[in-house]
Amino acid sequence: MIEKKDIDAMSMHRERMVQEQLIARGIDSVRVIDAFRKVPRHLFIEDGLIYQAYSDYPLPIAEGQTISQPYIAALMTQSLEVRPDDTVLEIGTGSGYQTAILSELCRKVCSVERLGTIASKARKLLDGLGYHNAMIVIGDGTKGYAERAPYDGIIVTAAGPRVPEPLSEQLKDGGRLIMPIGDERTQSLVKVTRQGRTLKEESLGECRFVKLIGEYAWSK
Ligand code: SAH
Repeated sequence: MIEKKDIDAMSMHRERMVQEQLIARGIDSVRVIDAFRKVPRHLFIEDGLIYQAYSDYPLPIAEGQTISQPYIAALMTQSLEVRPDDTVLEIGTGSGYQTAILSELCRKVCSVERLGTIASKARKLLDGLGYHNAMIVIGDGTKGYAERAPYDGIIVTAAGPRVPEPLSEQLKDGGRLIMPIGDERTQSLVKVTRQGRTLKEESLGECRFVKLIGEYAWSK
């Protein structure tokens, strides 16, 4: 059980994370900064690692997966240019932290997770925090989620060799997709913007994510 003094300490660590890791490195969207100020990241971290929740690196979650470094999550979120009325698709729910951030910023979030155990843990957390505009679907996110398509934004929080075709097909005209693309060791964070039938691509820098496993990515 976390005590009151620890909760106060967590708020202090969170504010420091926002100042030193996000604002100081150029995250300047007020909406994005406010979302990172608000979401209690420490609740999405494994018990034994809770005091590292606001540290400047990724942390392990269950099943060999990771929760991204705060700055990378913020960079991806800001690059997604989420507006209040948007519907966003997330691939790789993981801890549910990024899902919570997106829930703060848009009307509807559909998050697809491959592993059932991870998905149900995230669902419980998000329910407890009142993020009812986020739905979690268990399945292969490389196929997207056609039921709610098209999307204003798509964020993939696992790395693959290329943008899965169903994802670019489920992107609205003017929609943005952010995804790490490369091999298993190093990837480049790519932003794809749909302009009619053209997909404009730009790189946001180097990164390293866990593997995207599915029909339109790696097989294992
Ligand atoms: N955004 C998460 C971190 C995700 S880690 C957070 O904030 O915590 C990457 C997640 O992608 C893992 O949980 C992994 O199981 C999931 N994943 C990998 N391949 C997938 C696929 N094809 N479809 C859906 N989820 C996938």
